[in-house]
This record gives sequence, C-alpha cells and structure tokens, in this order.
Amino acid sequence: MKRALQLATFPLVMAASVLVAAAMLARGASPLLVIVTVPPAAGAIIIALEWVIPFRREWLRDHGDFRTDCVHIVLSAWAVESLPLVVNGALVAAAAAVAGGLGRAPWPVEWPVGVQVALALVVSELFHYAIHRALHRFGPLWRLHAVHHSSTRLYWLNATRVHPLEGLFHIATGATALVIVGVPADVLTIHTVFLAVARVFQHANLDLRLGPLNWLFSTPEVHRFHHSTVRAEVEANYGTALLVWDWVFGTRRATPAGGAPAQIGGPTMPPGWWAQVSAPFRRTAG
Ligand SMILES: [Zn+2]
Repeated sequence: MKRALQLATFPLVMAASVLVAAAMLARGASPLLVIVTVPPAAGAIIIALEWVIPFRREWLRDHGDFRTDCVHIVLSAWAVESLPLVVNGALVAAAAAVAGGLGRAPWPVEWPVGVQVALALVVSELFHYAIHRALHRFGPLWRLHAVHHSSTRLYWLNATRVHPLEGLFHIATGATALVIVGVPADVLTIHTVFLAVARVFQHANLDLRLGPLNWLFSTPEVHRFHHSTVRAEVEANYGTALLVWDWVFGTRRATPAGGAPAQIGGPTMPPGWWAQVSAPFRRTAG
C-alpha cells in the first residue's frame, strides 16, 4: 500500500486536478470558482497523506511556525495572487494593444488546450526561474527570499511562506505575460491550478518515489535539496513546477531517490508574520 501511494500520489492528484478543472470549465464554471476549489481540494489530499507517508515524522509537529505560516498563506500568498483580478482591466487593455499591434493575439489559440497549457507552463516557468535565480544571486533580493528558506522543516505550508514582494515579482511577470500575449481564460485557469497544486507537492512532507518524473517536474524528492543548508545543493533546481529551464541553463542537479540533505534551513527568522515581512528591511537581517 505504501509503495503504491509513493508511486501514484503525485501523477494521480496532478492529473485529477487538471481534469476536474477542465471539466468544471467545460460545464460553465467560472475561472474563479475553479481556482478557489480545485487546488484546496488537492491540498487537502496532500495534507492528509502527509500523515500517512511522511518523509520525516518530526516535520509533522508544529515547529513554532504553523501560526505564522497560516498568516503567510492569507496575506503573503492569496492576497498577492488575487492582484491580477484587481488590475484585470489594465491587463485586458494591454492584451488588446498587443493583439492590435500584431493584427491578432500572438498566442496559438487554435492548438489543443492540453498543448496550450503545457506551453503556458514552459513560458511562465521561464519568468519564475529567472526571478528565483535573481532572488538567490542579489543580496537585497535574497533578504526577501530568506523568509521562504528560513523554515527548518518542509511541509505543505512552505509553498506559501514567502515574502509578499517576492510573490508580487512572480505575479507581475509570469501571469501578466501570459495574459498580455492572449492566453485564453480556460488555459490560464488550468495553468494556474497546475502550478498551485505542484507548488504544494514541491514542499510537501511526503515520502514519494517518482523515478523518471523527477527529471521533468520539481517534485519533493528534488526540491528538498534546494532547501538544504549546503550552498551547492541550494543553488540548483530552481524550477517551480517544471525543471525545463534548469536543464537549459545547467542548474539541474540529479538527487538520490528518497535522499535528503543533511539539514534543512536558512537564515534564522523571527517568529510572527510582520517580524518576518519587515526583517529584510532591518539592518540585522541575515
Ligand atoms: Zn530558493
């Protein structure tokens, strides 16, 4: 039973999330309804499975971080990720300007939806990859990203333990670029669902064995090394859902099946959401 869960959880939950999202859209559900129901449902499955096949049983207990991470998911993640809805009018106007300038939208809307979703992921991953590398490369940006790396365990809430400005960078580039080149709403919605569920998997405390899938997707087996305290392990595997740009730019590092870095963590952060969000701007920030 454990072996089956280790092999099948990731592909089944990812596929089910995409198929359910597509079916809801086909039946006339709004993109907003799909985005606020499908990823949380998949997340609930992942949270439950953390208690069935945890990678580290000690990561299940609160490390004094749970309350702050709950505030992060609301204020640092959801609030920032809903911004495109607020500036929707400006994005649509920009998209119309691009389409008007070119005579038509540059996005291949005639391609099958599945292929468009894959293309959208590859395109948005380039932005997320570039930002992630910059967050590690430049001191002021690293102070922001250190909030994400400061966790001493990996579990489902790590995906959204981010500084709001970091989230803003990602939203302002990847998602905006897709809207402006004319990606249709249903493709954008399925892409968003895929990315949201993949991010929860990426940080989940799950003992998965994904074999060849580790070469394409940024799975927990691969990504936990990015949260190592060893610099050489951290500076690799920057992809969010896919590792395609790590391949292209030579930062893909093979990791042993079921292996783990000796220690997880980064700069020490004060407890409390506001203390963490303001930490990068204090002189003592690490
Ligand atoms: Zn990082």
